Amino acid sequence: MPMYQFACRDCGQAFDKRLRMSQASQTQECPNCGSLETRKVISAIAVGGASRVSGAAVAPPVSSPFS
Ligand SMILES: [Zn+2]
Repeated sequence: MPMYQFACRDCGQAFDKRLRMSQASQTQECPNCGSLETRKVISAIAVGGASRVSGAAVAPPVSSPFS
């Protein structure tokens, strides 16, 4: 599930949330002050599997990152 980072406009609190794609566009409540005046800062897409590196995992040959 993707992790999104939000920041509160009212108190400046930054917080992370894991959201479903369908929830990502919804307003998130600030955990610090309860304000709904929050904005999405970063969406770090954590794709299960692709970023999972365990020990001596076999690295694919380097090629164009977008091939
Ligand atoms: Zn806040």
